[in-house]
Amino acid sequence: MASLDQVPREAIDWGPTIEEAACRDGCRTCLDFCQNGVYAWVDGKTCVVQRTACIVGCSHCASLCKSGAIAFPSLEDLRKAHPRT
Ligand code: SF4
Ligand code: SF4
Repeated sequence: MASLDQVPREAIDWGPTIEEAACRDGCRTCLDFCQNGVYAWVDGKTCVVQRTACIVGCSHCASLCKSGAIAFPSLEDLRKAHPRT
């Protein structure tokens, strides 16, 4: 993803979305794992508070979520939006 360096991060549609109904409140696995400040504990649940702090192309936290509650845009859509990647 090195060629994305010239694109402002805010212009890149990449980051997690939590499906609240699937998220098990109190699990915190994604929150504890990610060191980028993407997640925070808000009103008794894990929330995405800084989506653009997510590393473009990373989806590690989604693979750790046993509830399958974390979704990302597809890599295919990312490549379509930024063809030089
Ligand atoms: S890892 Fe999954 S179930 Fe756990 S807090 Fe995060 S989104 Fe919710
Ligand atoms: S994909 Fe990586 S950088 Fe993004 S929120 Fe998950 S662990 Fe953090």
